[in-house]
Amino acid sequence: MDLIYAEATPPGRGGISVIRLSGAGARAALERLVGDLPQARHCYFRDVKDADEVVDQALAVWFEEGLSFTGEEVAEVHLHGAPVIAKRVTYLLEQEGARQAEAGEFTRRAFMSGRMDLAEVEGLGDLLEAETEYQRQLAVRSAGGELSRKAERWRELLIRAGAMVEVSVDFADEEVPDEVPDEVFELLGTLREELREQISGFGAAERIRNGFEIAIIGPPNAGKSSLINRIARRDVALVSQVAGTTRDVIEVRLDLKGLSVNLLDTAGIRETTDEVEQMGVDLARKRALAADLRLHLSEHGEIDESMRRDGDFVVQSKADLNEAVGEHSVSSKSGAGIDKLLDNIFEVLSQRVVGAGIVSHERQVRALTEAYESLCDIEGLPPEFLAESIRRTGSSLDKLLGRIGAEEYLSVIFSSFCIGK
Ligand code: GDP
Repeated sequence: MDLIYAEATPPGRGGISVIRLSGAGARAALERLVGDLPQARHCYFRDVKDADEVVDQALAVWFEEGLSFTGEEVAEVHLHGAPVIAKRVTYLLEQEGARQAEAGEFTRRAFMSGRMDLAEVEGLGDLLEAETEYQRQLAVRSAGGELSRKAERWRELLIRAGAMVEVSVDFADEEVPDEVPDEVFELLGTLREELREQISGFGAAERIRNGFEIAIIGPPNAGKSSLINRIARRDVALVSQVAGTTRDVIEVRLDLKGLSVNLLDTAGIRETTDEVEQMGVDLARKRALAADLRLHLSEHGEIDESMRRDGDFVVQSKADLNEAVGEHSVSSKSGAGIDKLLDNIFEVLSQRVVGAGIVSHERQVRALTEAYESLCDIEGLPPEFLAESIRRTGSSLDKLLGRIGAEEYLSVIFSSFCIGK
């Protein structure tokens, strides 16, 4: 593998700027700039030099192969955080034969060298993208290998079950009865149950990762945009007195006490004779119905019953003008009732994430479902068929960890990473 470098810290001014190198010769390349770095994983305070000129003073450290983020030899230099310094140092590193890393290339190397599996890579990606506490908590568990450790344990169960079945297969040719011991079915039953639990916790985990959708529905002028603006505390949706000015679905992303929530303003849903507009209305309607929750907003309790689903909130708007009715009465003008509304929404949504598992990616749940399905209807199977089911389950778990079939996902996953990761 060639030697790559990248700024690991965001570009621009800051306290420090970290440049990281990975690949054979990383240590030597850095040493030519800062002098000898005798011990791995020790920080040295050094002048960074270009011949006799001091470019900066910096901390330098290196990690030996096998004990670094990428699994390769890695070296880091912590410079003062001025772009002109980083520019000069990266120029010098290029003179030493290093090239700038591509997006996600460090992580890709970590994956290739077996330092991380695909579930951990996905977790790391989620961690870097996390905007809310719940997202961070979920991502840090995946990035830290929780799913991977589970998968390892499942594989061990499979190997044990597989070994017992193989014995039955071997004996089948001889005069020994080819019965599969009950223990095999017990092991596989336990495994199947654990897989089922993880699969059923996918929906909630996926909501944590991607956010809940809440649609605000109501007649024109009910105050939908004003409510969203009030909640978001910034001018995102167009507020106007002309009916139906917000044509499309407008989204506002919120951090609701740690939960990621997308508020959808569906002002586009209204009667129309225009064919093109009708298509937009249909889309907005579908989107609102697919949302996790709907707030039916109106001044006097008018509700579009065709859009109503169990658990939806009925909210009265313009509480400053009208006498309050119902549980939720809010004023976007004074702010009255809005905190209570948000508290209640949080209550409902936080209940829905109680059973969240660690599996939060479509790719992961597909692999797990495949594994699960291979273990269904195995009771009473002859050993040869059972062995085949076990092998299939194992290869689905390999897919989960990216040991096989990872190619199609890699470029998508890594391209979402930044250059220094
Ligand atoms: P939408 O069509 O449902 O999105 O409604 P808008 O948010 O555009 O509001 C329609 C009109 O009602 C605007 O003139 C707003 O200023 C007004 N409005 C919205 N919410 C309130 C409120 O809580 N109190 C008062 N007094 N006026 C409001």
